[in-house]
Formats: sequence, C-alpha cells, structure tokens
Amino acid sequence: PTILYQDQFLSRDQGKVDMEDRGYQFGDGIYEAIRVYGGRLFLLDLHMKRLERSARELRLQLPYSIDHLTDNLRTLIAKNQIDDGLVYFQITRGAAPRQHLFPEETESVLTGSAISLSREDALRPDGIKASLIDDIRWLRCDIKTLNLLGNVLAKQKAHEQGSEEAILHRGDTVTEGSSCNVFIVKEGRLITHPADHFILNGITRLFVLDLAERLDIPVQERLFSTEELLSADEVFITSTGAEVKPVVQIGDQLIAGGRPGVIAGRLMDAFDKEVTRIRTA
Ligand code: PLP
Repeated sequence: PTILYQDQFLSRDQGKVDMEDRGYQFGDGIYEAIRVYGGRLFLLDLHMKRLERSARELRLQLPYSIDHLTDNLRTLIAKNQIDDGLVYFQITRGAAPRQHLFPEETESVLTGSAISLSREDALRPDGIKASLIDDIRWLRCDIKTLNLLGNVLAKQKAHEQGSEEAILHRGDTVTEGSSCNVFIVKEGRLITHPADHFILNGITRLFVLDLAERLDIPVQERLFSTEELLSADEVFITSTGAEVKPVVQIGDQLIAGGRPGVIAGRLMDAFDKEVTRIRTA
C-alpha cells in the first residue's frame, strides 16, 4: 500500500517515525477517519471542520492547508485504488527531546493511509450485542485525540464479555460507545447525548440527526440513563465505518425482543439511498 507521510507518497515500509515524536511518547496529536464511497470522501467538510477544531483545542499547528490536505487524501485514495473504504490520518505535535511542555519549535507530523472496506463487511443490519462499561476517560472527549486508552480498555473488556461494542456510562448517564455514538428510541422519539465535553460529536451522529429531520422523526439531545437505555424501544450506534448499527442485546438484556427496530430501519434505508446517490453522482 501507498501511505502519506507529510507531503510525500511512500510505500508502507518506507514510512519512518522518530522515536521522540510526541504522538508516540504522549499521544500528543489528533486524527480523523473519513468514509470513502465510490472513491469519494463522504461528509468531507464536516470532518475537516472537526479536525480544525481539534487542532485549535490542543493548540496544534496543522502542517498544510485543508485544500492541500484534501488533494493529498484524494491522491492517496487513487494510488490505493479505493472504491469503498476508509481514509485514516493523524497529525502529531512533532519530534522534540522528551518533556511535557510544548517544544518551542517543532514541525507537526502528518501520516495517513487508505484501506478498502466494503459495506457488506462493515454493516450489521441484524444488530449486535454490546456491554455497559464504566467510562473512565478524561473530560475532553470532544477532542479527537490519539489518546485512546480509555476507549481501548473499554472495547477490550466488552470483547472479553462476548460483545462487539462497549456502551460507556458515567454514573447513571450513558455517554457514547468506545468508538461510536449511542442513540435510543422511546415512543418514536430519538434520544442521544448532547454534543458537550463528554462525547465526541460524531460526523455520523450529525448526519443521522439530519436524516431524522428529513424523515420527520423527532429528536431530543439530552442526557439519558442506563435504565432508559436498557428499557428503550430501540438502541443503535453510529460511526464512520459502521453507519447505523442496531444493538439488540446489552449484557444479558435483549432490546426490543432482540430484533432491530423500525426507526433504525428507516434511518438505515435513508443512509443507503444517500450512499447510492453519492456513488452515482
Ligand atoms: N465516539 C468515539 C469515541 C469515536 O471514536 C467515534 C469514531 O471513531 C465516534 C464517536 C463516531 O464518530 P464518527 O461518526 O465521526 O466516526
């Protein structure tokens, strides 16, 4: 595969990272993962806005303009001959002798890759099992940083319980998943955690809120409890890779008798139409 290193396209084994890169030593960096449908970057502008916000919040300098970066991502997709796939890229604060304080001068380091990912492999229309796991992450989950240990530990724990995803809670409040946002349905209404410091404001979350508006499905962005989660009419999660994914079991508890819900179904159909439209545009 061809990877992106700064402004250069290299083969995977030519890419070298300095051992004193702050991304490596401190997780001092940010990233984005963007879905590719039919060779095109999906919801690109929203991803780039979130990238700029993450950079601002960490006072990290983006090494290239968004336009230039976008050109390079498109080249990366073409060089790897991606039809449906995923582009991942990250930017660290660069290399400097190890100390916590920001170095006076470093050059941010950008690396990126692109992989193929078919929708058949990524989607799970029949639903998955999830586990409720304590949210032990820091208080700035709104920034898409490379620091993902809280997420990694949660997902590993869920996996060891036979689940595909960890649904996180702080006390009684459900926040999000280890790598996705969480929605519940009560009496025909969508409910999801507000976009504050406790969750990452997912681009798929935003897109689903937009689809819900178009479909006249009422939405509440508000806190909801683990009890509301377990007694919900429907539960589903959203992410760039998995789109809308029904959750039909949480721990030992079946959700809606273990079958995907009607509203999740309508959103999955609407999502599908949008992807078809984009692929053929
Ligand atoms: N929340 C967390 C913690 C994530 O890591 C992700 C994505 O990986 C999401 C939510 C979903 O965000 P998006 O829809 O932008 O992929």
